[in-house]
Amino acid sequence: MADDKHVIQMSGGIGSFWAAKRVIAQHGTANVLLLFADTRVEDPTLYDFLTAARVHLDVELVVVKDGRTPFEVFFDEHFLGNSRLAPCSKRLKQIPCRSWLEANCDPATTTVYVGIDAEEQRRLPGVVHGWDGWQVEFPMCDEPYWTKDDMLDECRKLGITVPLLYEIGYPHNNCSGLCVRAGQRQWLLTLQAFPDRYAYAEAEEQRFREEFGKDVSILRETVKGERRPLTLAELRRRFEAGTVRVPVPVPAFIPAA
Ligand code: SF4
Repeated sequence: MADDKHVIQMSGGIGSFWAAKRVIAQHGTANVLLLFADTRVEDPTLYDFLTAARVHLDVELVVVKDGRTPFEVFFDEHFLGNSRLAPCSKRLKQIPCRSWLEANCDPATTTVYVGIDAEEQRRLPGVVHGWDGWQVEFPMCDEPYWTKDDMLDECRKLGITVPLLYEIGYPHNNCSGLCVRAGQRQWLLTLQAFPDRYAYAEAEEQRFREEFGKDVSILRETVKGERRPLTLAELRRRFEAGTVRVPVPVPAFIPAA
């Protein structure tokens, strides 16, 4: 209907940009807006991309924020985020976005769009559950099916600079390569591409362990069938000793972190 609102959850990822393109192709720009939750630790090129996307799409960009960083959430909640449970996502993204929607939109006439693509469909039930009470759609799960590489190539064709993390080989453009949900492969990439960022996360993880006296870590490993913590400090030591390797070559143009 003419007055229906269309809100794209703009993560800074390429999927959310193309989700917005598809929504606008179908509904026009009049009642479309982009909703971005700022974690305060994003790569600078994510903000550049957001600005370029807003100008290109010619729709309003609403920025919401909790005000804390992921590690500030972990310290506040006495819980170190990891691949199984990441309270930062709920506190810094889900709650601020939901609060804004509840204050500014009517669930009866508003659709929320998320940029998950066809290769990530396993995430749909969790996202739908998280948006309980709101109508949610996933434009990039519809035909034509595009991979992330397709989306990045099409973005370049529009003359929009692709965020740096994608150019390096990260699958997602979030939290500057420090996502606690990522596995060893991504952390090793960050260690090589952004050693200062890795050092920050390593120091924060160690500070958390000391402050709360808990043998916890962002990463875990299985040794002889037993799951146990793998700290970022230990992963770095193994990398420096040559017992683990960065899985993909890092392009030479990476700026100093
Ligand atoms: S991208 Fe990762 S680290 Fe950042 S808020 Fe989401 S779950 Fe937390």
